[in-house]
Amino acid sequence: MNSTFMERTEQAIRGLRRLAYNLWWTWNPKAQDIFHALSERKWRSSNHNAVAVLKSISHAELQARLCEKEFLEQVESVLQEFENYMGKKDTWYTANTSGNGSRLVAYFSAEFGLHECLPIYSGGLGVLAGDHTKSASDLGVPFIGVSLFYRNGYFQQTLGPDGWQHESYPLIDPDTIPVELVTDDAGNPVTASVQIAHATVTFHAYRINVGRATIYLLDTNREENDLHYREITSRVYGGDSTTRVMQETILGIGGVRLLRKLGIAPRVFHMNEGHSAFLTLELLRERLAQGDTRADAEAWVRDHSVFTTHTPVPAGHDRFTPDLLDHLLSMFRERLGFDHETLMSYGRERPDDSEETFCMTVLALKMSQAANGVSELHGQISRDMWKGLFHVDNSEEVPIGHITNGVHILGWMANRTRQFWHKHLGQKWIYYLKQEAIWAQVSDPELIPDEELWALRYGLRRDLIEYVRRMMRHQFQRVGADYDTVQGSILNPDALTIGFARRFATYKRAPLFFRDFNRVVELINNPERPVQIVFAGKAHPRDDQGKRFIQEIVGHSKNPALFGKVVFLENYDINVARHMISGVDLWLNNPRRPMEASGTSGMKILIHGGLNLSILDGWWREGYSGENGWAIGEDSTPASVEEQDERDAALLQEILFNDVIPEFYDRDEYGIPRKWLQRVRKSMETLIPQFNTDRMVSDYVTKYYHITD
Ligand SMILES: *Cc1c(COP(=O)(O)O)cnc(C)c1O
Repeated sequence: MNSTFMERTEQAIRGLRRLAYNLWWTWNPKAQDIFHALSERKWRSSNHNAVAVLKSISHAELQARLCEKEFLEQVESVLQEFENYMGKKDTWYTANTSGNGSRLVAYFSAEFGLHECLPIYSGGLGVLAGDHTKSASDLGVPFIGVSLFYRNGYFQQTLGPDGWQHESYPLIDPDTIPVELVTDDAGNPVTASVQIAHATVTFHAYRINVGRATIYLLDTNREENDLHYREITSRVYGGDSTTRVMQETILGIGGVRLLRKLGIAPRVFHMNEGHSAFLTLELLRERLAQGDTRADAEAWVRDHSVFTTHTPVPAGHDRFTPDLLDHLLSMFRERLGFDHETLMSYGRERPDDSEETFCMTVLALKMSQAANGVSELHGQISRDMWKGLFHVDNSEEVPIGHITNGVHILGWMANRTRQFWHKHLGQKWIYYLKQEAIWAQVSDPELIPDEELWALRYGLRRDLIEYVRRMMRHQFQRVGADYDTVQGSILNPDALTIGFARRFATYKRAPLFFRDFNRVVELINNPERPVQIVFAGKAHPRDDQGKRFIQEIVGHSKNPALFGKVVFLENYDINVARHMISGVDLWLNNPRRPMEASGTSGMKILIHGGLNLSILDGWWREGYSGENGWAIGEDSTPASVEEQDERDAALLQEILFNDVIPEFYDRDEYGIPRKWLQRVRKSMETLIPQFNTDRMVSDYVTKYYHITD
């Protein structure tokens, strides 16, 4: 080894350290390959965590491994790609905005779902926030996120022998995950504090690098805080309403204070759901302290704030009693110079009603310039729901619009799929994901032959099945069940494979599929046209009905009539999701309309050639064209819940039996289901360019972030 070579390897090692701490690697398979190659075992056991892999390898080993020329070149090429990405000047943002590039957006969210090695999210809201951040980075939007560092994260799910969900909260060690402590020039943690009840609660922060974007996570776990306050940020949505107010105080008020400490002055504060709405009160406090009148201060805050609501049911919005807020926020309120009733009035539909609770959504709506729901129907529902607040009779006058959600395509793409598109669309398509022209090419059977599309589907289904078999081995062994004698009968690589995975909130009606049980047994066991279904999902720890739903489905999966054809995968997370959404032929979503504000999991399957079968709710109501998937029911909502459940369950069976299954098994002489693949092409062509976060974030930029231009 000579000294220039030595320098090259040292530079690569420094580059790898930088890379490991930037989640850009989570949407770059070549970068993942490097960490995987460094230690396959650690990569798997750490839930694909690049930092854990690097920390488990000595400097001497890294040096030696990089002496292998091909490996060094592979590393250097990825690092070059990373540096190019980070330094890119000509982005969508610079090309499409009027040059006032300093409009920094601060996006506040109680959860961010970025990757399976960072379990600081519970479900769709977090995954959406994570995908929003990744697309903001890809598009070059000046963007930072603010959230909490949950050192016990969201729970890990295991199932008992009786199918009951058990929760555990492993401690996350910040030293082994891709987060960095935020420090000052002297290397000391940057801290800030908020007043809660009679205490001053101090917090520090961690930084996550997400491509060109940064997320700050606030953490109250500090020695100077009483134990009670140290625990505030320990769990995602942990505890009772007291914990909830305290978490939201840290997130909203603390979040603004941290940014000020760091000298960051965002032009737009985007509240992703009402949890962070206290930030508007802190901004108000700042303006009042500078001498603004209340009217001017409010106008300033509104001019800087944007709000996205996600909840179509009144009960889903955070509401706190006057007593609770009086207790927890009195010190902060005094700094604002408000009396109790004045503070409460910001969160009330009827400001003078001293009985009314404080609603975070009301606060957010009152104090933001623009608000939106997350699909067209959800926009309508939200306008209806908040008519009273805006004192209008006609809900069309309520100033709530909509931007339909999306998914970050590259982050959800299986490597096999990525290679497929590279082969058929060339190298450049990844920069133009939301361009219709790119996906219009999919309709061309010369460019993408049916045979190749079908080969992709088979490959992805096989990958899923092998993953499920590995996971079932763990699940069986943990409860002491014999796996070896049954493993051959778990899932059939030729069968129509359905997926259902999401939080087990009851409105999502996970067991609906089984309502006519005898018919299900018949449908699944047809020897000519076998069907199988993979389930996954967590119920909220306090949701016993959701846990009963899980238990019911686990029970079916053990029924000899369905064994190996109905499976339930434990511990639904981003990793489980990634396998499921790429492997299934059909994604089932049957929420009780109109409760699914948008839904995003059905968007993740599109790129892999899966098809949707869904209620016309949320995004699917906009996406469904008649020939790009299947719809359950009409674009209307039945009068009663019972009627709706009855009707939807019957329709679901009918559509599967009459349409979906026959089309999947209608093969030509070469074994290819031409009609099915035609539908897949339609699905890709019409849906991919719409239902992705590049389109979504660009909508936010043009319609909301630049609203006061
Ligand atoms: C996409 C995703 C969700 C959201 O799924 P919906 O069907 O839209 O509710 C929830 N959890 C995980 C882990 C996901 O990947």
